[in-house]
Amino acid sequence: MKFTDSHCHLDFKAFTADGISSTNLLLEQCAKKNIHQIIIPAISPANWQNVLALANNNQGNPLNGCKVLACLGIHPWFLDGLQQTSLDSLAQKVSDNKTEIIAIGEAGLDGVIAKQQDNINQQMLFFEFQLNLAQQHKLPIIVHHRRTHNETITLLKQVKISRGGIIHAFSGSYQQACQYIDLGFKLGIGGTITYPRAEKTIKAIKRLPLSSLVLETDAPSMPLYGFQGEDNSPLRILDVFEKLVELRQESRAEIAEKIEQNITTLFQLNRV
Ligand SMILES: [Zn+2]
Repeated sequence: MKFTDSHCHLDFKAFTADGISSTNLLLEQCAKKNIHQIIIPAISPANWQNVLALANNNQGNPLNGCKVLACLGIHPWFLDGLQQTSLDSLAQKVSDNKTEIIAIGEAGLDGVIAKQQDNINQQMLFFEFQLNLAQQHKLPIIVHHRRTHNETITLLKQVKISRGGIIHAFSGSYQQACQYIDLGFKLGIGGTITYPRAEKTIKAIKRLPLSSLVLETDAPSMPLYGFQGEDNSPLRILDVFEKLVELRQESRAEIAEKIEQNITTLFQLNRV
């Protein structure tokens, strides 16, 4: 069995504080646990270069390495001070690195931040631009959402993304999940399902087709239940997997294989 962490901020200080050796050590530990791919979403212009460098320096050994894959985008938490010029730079960066990246993201709408910063219009502008950018380059997109299902689904219906993408850290109902799946999206399954209070999401994930699920940690964020207050790690993808196995009827091997296949298909990773 092989695993992919489809959402990990490997460029954050929690992982890079001790320099390149700490990143290398972590990637070695991941490889030993059969975590053979980590996808890093970008969050703002300030981290694009680091994300690209991490992917460039960690191409992985197909037999026993952990490969790092990069995305480029602007996260809705980090819009303060950004303007149209930042979107223009993103478009340029994506064009310049078209063959190096596998998706746009993470991009999306955050209802809690929108209330705090009164910036829903700016969030909509940035998200719509990135949706169009994904479509223009025929790339998938990693979508951040928080209390914004209706707005997100409306926009995804307007700007149809032919390659789909991932609804990162999915939490919501079965009906909401089905709307995303109908739009060509997979659901990112992470630490949320380890929390007993996440009843609605857990119920949905039990019923959804396996073909719509991928695994993620969002490390160093979103610690699993029992580890609150600690930095999360891509190594915990195995705990998310075990929790998913508990919730599903299929065998462990079938779940692992199908979820890897979902990643390969979504990001077209089998293409040479
Ligand atoms: Zn994230």
